[in-house]
Amino acid sequence: MNANADKMFPFDARSYAFQEYVPCKNLIGGAWRDAESGQTIAVENPRHGRVMGHVASSGAADVDAAVQAAALAAKTWRNVPIRERGAVFYRLKELMQRDLDELAWLVSHENGKTFAEAKASVEKGIECVEFGASLPNMATGEQLDVSRGVNCRIEHEALGVVAGITPFNFPIMVPLWMLPQAIVGGNAFVLKPSEQVPYGAMKLGLLLREAGLPDGVYNVVNGGADVVNALCDHPTIKAIAFVGSTRVGKHVYARGAAAGKSMLCLGGAKNHLIVVPDADVKLTAANVAASFTGCAGQRCMAASVLLAVGDVDPIVNAIVEEAKSIRMGKDLGSIINEVSEKRIRGYIDQAVSLGASIVLDGRAQRGEESGYWVGPTVLDHVSTTMPAATQEIFGPVLSIVRCKTLEDAIAIENANAYGNAACIYTTSGAVADYVTERVEAGMVGVNVGVPVPREPFGFGGWNDSKFGTGNITGMDGYRFWTRPRKVTTKWAIQKDTTWMG
Ligand code: NAD
Repeated sequence: MNANADKMFPFDARSYAFQEYVPCKNLIGGAWRDAESGQTIAVENPRHGRVMGHVASSGAADVDAAVQAAALAAKTWRNVPIRERGAVFYRLKELMQRDLDELAWLVSHENGKTFAEAKASVEKGIECVEFGASLPNMATGEQLDVSRGVNCRIEHEALGVVAGITPFNFPIMVPLWMLPQAIVGGNAFVLKPSEQVPYGAMKLGLLLREAGLPDGVYNVVNGGADVVNALCDHPTIKAIAFVGSTRVGKHVYARGAAAGKSMLCLGGAKNHLIVVPDADVKLTAANVAASFTGCAGQRCMAASVLLAVGDVDPIVNAIVEEAKSIRMGKDLGSIINEVSEKRIRGYIDQAVSLGASIVLDGRAQRGEESGYWVGPTVLDHVSTTMPAATQEIFGPVLSIVRCKTLEDAIAIENANAYGNAACIYTTSGAVADYVTERVEAGMVGVNVGVPVPREPFGFGGWNDSKFGTGNITGMDGYRFWTRPRKVTTKWAIQKDTTWMG
């Protein structure tokens, strides 16, 4: 790569003011390249609703070039001691901390999050990098003398070339759910970021190079569905992780598996929070409001349905008051694009027309004159058959479903197809345990509205929120990106051996 390449990419935004970005290219074998077709896709800054740059719109030929570069790099990288591979991520952590503000503004510009949310997402990405840096201390394999003179050991070895496909909502954090375990595990990686937010992956390329990662170990191929399908079909790629919607996740899982790859696909969500009358009013109100409005509701862990059990009106009122105090543009960022804004508004309009009452209406709220916005919205008396109660809205909308009993609430939660997260708000340990043991969700919160497991605990839902085995982060991630070689040894000492004494 050109030693001065970094100067080509001045990510110097330090405010919400609109700024144009350099063209976002593919990174193949250490070189920044346009798509072979020469085509590009416009990238919008959603806060301003204006085109901030263009990203390469790639196809199968670009994927093949990246895979060839990765295959070449993987031959050497797999033989680099794991401690040295981990050290790259140790340095990446330092570089990300050095550039924290720059990274956060970058995420804010391409995704529309507030600066504080963007910064928190980068910090969570840094935690994932820390996990990768610590793998050399944890990835020891296993061994046992299974019989007299017979030993079995398991070595987790690199797969070779692997790939990741990521969504728009966390441009830096979600790629970092994959890269540390995959690369410290000895693989070369091809990333296909969301075409809506490609600059985070570009900046990661610059930082990884600065951290000492050899060319070709981290490659980026930008674009849309054509790139995804070419990755699924490419025979050299051995494993793919996907994070995005359930619709696309199911397609990617099936297509990659049909081509013989290991697949792990994380999909959409419809997270239910159960609130019972003994819940702490203040804690619950602040927590629920933050959960459904954070990142403008565009989080797979966001609260979506509140199952209000019995008389919890004081808590519902407090949630509404809390949500009213959220300042547009300052505490709540924008929606990713016009189509998403229309979709969210459509769910609100439809719920109202079907008889839900709108106790907080964010439809007229904006953070800026331009861009895509929906304010915090609370719909009450939503029925279990309304799309606002069953489908992923992915916006700052809370649908309240009234329930007579805790059993009713659990039954509603369990009837939904997704299984990412569920929460219970209560001051009773017995109630918390009762719910925790019965909800159909891979990640459960007790008085925690966004129950993301912190490292080293792995992230991953159940049911229609995940296709494949294991979690994407933590040691499960390392297992996913490696394959276990089982070695059984038996050594016989020859009778005529005299030199052993
Ligand atoms: P998306 O499914 O539209 O896109 C994800 C990726 O797939 C992108 O890189 C995109 O380019 C590609 N893609 C889109 N359409 C495709 C198609 N027809 N064929 C092949 N590839 C295609 O998701 P999104 O809108 O970027 O992200 C939001 C979704 O991601 C939500 O459903 C959210 O719940 C989910 N998500 C889930 C998790 C999780 O951990 N479960 C985390 C973050 C986001």
